[in-house]
Amino acid sequence: MLFRELAPSLFLCIIEGENKILGWKVKGGKMEIVTVQIETPFEKNLLNGNPLIYKDAIATNLDLEEGQIIDVVTKKNKFIGRGYYAIQNKGIGWILTREKNKSIDGVFFEEQLKKAIDKRVTYFKDTETTAFRIFNGEGDGIGGFSVDLYQNYLLVQWYSIGIYKYKSLIVESLQRLLDVEGIYEKKRFDDNGTYMEDDDFVVGKKGDFPITILENGVKYSVNLNEGAMTGIFLDQKDVRRTIRDKYAKGKNVLNTFSYTGAFSVAAAVGGSVSTTSVDLANRSKQKTADNFLLNGIDLSKQKIIVEDVFHYFKYAVKKQLSFDMVILDPPSFARSKKHTFRAAKDYTNLLKEAIAITNQSGIVVASTNCATFDMKKFRGFIDTAFNHQKERYQIVEQFGLPNDFANIKEVKESNYLKVIFIKKLK
Ligand code: SAH
Repeated sequence: MLFRELAPSLFLCIIEGENKILGWKVKGGKMEIVTVQIETPFEKNLLNGNPLIYKDAIATNLDLEEGQIIDVVTKKNKFIGRGYYAIQNKGIGWILTREKNKSIDGVFFEEQLKKAIDKRVTYFKDTETTAFRIFNGEGDGIGGFSVDLYQNYLLVQWYSIGIYKYKSLIVESLQRLLDVEGIYEKKRFDDNGTYMEDDDFVVGKKGDFPITILENGVKYSVNLNEGAMTGIFLDQKDVRRTIRDKYAKGKNVLNTFSYTGAFSVAAAVGGSVSTTSVDLANRSKQKTADNFLLNGIDLSKQKIIVEDVFHYFKYAVKKQLSFDMVILDPPSFARSKKHTFRAAKDYTNLLKEAIAITNQSGIVVASTNCATFDMKKFRGFIDTAFNHQKERYQIVEQFGLPNDFANIKEVKESNYLKVIFIKKLK
C-alpha cells in the first residue's frame, strides 16, 4: 500500500452538476454559512462534545438544504461548532469542527482522511489482513460516511444526501491518499440507513468480482457490486479470530444466520470437527461453500443448510442433535414466512432455543448489531434465558467494535456491536 502526500492546496469546488457540490448560496466567491440556533434542551449535549445534531434540535421552519454548512450556536448566540445539515437515520447533521471560521473544504476532508489512515498504520502493514475500515464517520471526525479497504478496492458508504454532495472532494482525496485500483460506493440514505439499489462503481478500474481478501490469514470471498452486503462483515474480525484460535478445536459448531459462513470458516480453520451453517437465503449455500474451498477445507464435514433458523432449532431438538458451540448472529430485524424477529424483543427466546441444544461446558456465542439496547441490557437477556432454562453459565469473552471501527463515547448509538461468549456450566 502506497501513501501519497497531502496535496498542498485544495479549494472547495463549487460546481453545478452531478456529484459536485451544488453551488448553494455563494456570495462574492464565498460560501454562505447559515447560523443555526439550537433549541435549549439540546445545547448541553452538543457543548459537551457530542457532534450529532438530533432531530428536534433545530427549528423545522429554517428550510435548510441537504449539505448546507451551518454554524451551530446556543440561544444566546454562543458558538458551539461548525458542521453540516443532513437528514440521516441518527439525526439531522453533524458538527465537524469546534474551531470558529475553520473552512469545510477539500483541505479539511483530506486532513481528516489522512489522520484516519495514519492512525491505522499497523493495519496497513499487516500482510495477513487486507480488508479493514479506514474511516469510520464521526469516530474519525466526520459523521455521515465510512470507508473500507477490501484488498485493493475501497468501499465508501454514504448515510445522507447531504454528505453525498461532498462526494467528489472525498473521493478525490482518497485517490490522492491511497493507491487503489478502484472505488465503489453504497448509498444508505433512507431512515433506517438501509441500502438503495444502484450501480456501485465510482472510479478507477472495475473489479473482477468476487475478489479474495485476507483476514488474519484466512481467505474470504468479497463482491463490492452485489447488493447491500459484501460477503463479510468486517466488524466481526476479532470474534472470528477468537473462535478460530481459542474455541474451535475439536468442536462441533452450529452457526445460525450464517450468511456466507464466515464464522464457520473461522471455526473450520481453527480445527473444528464439523460445522453446520444455517441461513434462510439461497445465496448462502454456494457462497459458504466457496469460502470453505478458498481455504482448502474439506466440505464433507461442513453442512450448509438453507432453512429458517427457528425451524432448524425444532428439527435439532426432535433429532436430539446438540453442539459444542452455537453461534447466534441474527439481524436486528428479520421477517421470514413464519417469523418476525426483532432483536430487542426476541433475543431472549432465541437464546433459550440455542441453550437447549448446546452441550454441557459448551459455548454460546451471542452477537447483535442492534443499536437500540446496550451491553447491560444484552447481558440481561442472557441471564433471563439461562435462568429460564434452569442452566448455570459464565461469560468468558466480550467484544464490541474492533479498533478500526473508531468510535467516540458521546455517540452511543454508533457503538452497536455486542458479542458475548457464554459457557454453559455443568
Ligand atoms: N453471521 C453472519 C452475518 C449474518 S447477516 C456473518 O458473520 O457473516 C444475517 C443473515 O440472517 C442473512 O444472511 C439472512 O439471510 C439471515 N436470516 C434472516 N432471518 C433468518 C431466519 N429466520 N433464518 C435463517 N436465516 C435468516
